[in-house]
Amino acid sequence: MRARHLRWRLVTRKPVVLQAFQTTEILNVETVGQNKIARPGDWIVKGVTGDIFPCRPEIFKKMYKLEGETVQIVFRCPNCKNKWTSDEHGPFTDMDMSKQLCTICQTEVIGEQT
Ligand SMILES: [Zn+2]
Repeated sequence: MRARHLRWRLVTRKPVVLQAFQTTEILNVETVGQNKIARPGDWIVKGVTGDIFPCRPEIFKKMYKLEGETVQIVFRCPNCKNKWTSDEHGPFTDMDMSKQLCTICQTEVIGEQT
């Protein structure tokens, strides 16, 4: 950069609570426009815009503080009124953790965080 009147400023990241999980298997993570491979031990982070990306454990340790809480997401199917939670349905097959298919009528349901 050669712009004469531009100056670097000191900034800190605002404390934002994000969701993340540590993978135990190789995952193919589709982030904005590209595919990335997550290896066992990598963290999968859901960013502020809802994008999902893998993060190496050493970087994760520098940038994030683990809050220890797990997130429970409740799904209510608008079509057949089926209701379930993220705990009941176990590991997400879809990388988008807030969307699942209703097991009864296959409607796509967007979960709500409790
Ligand atoms: Zn349904």
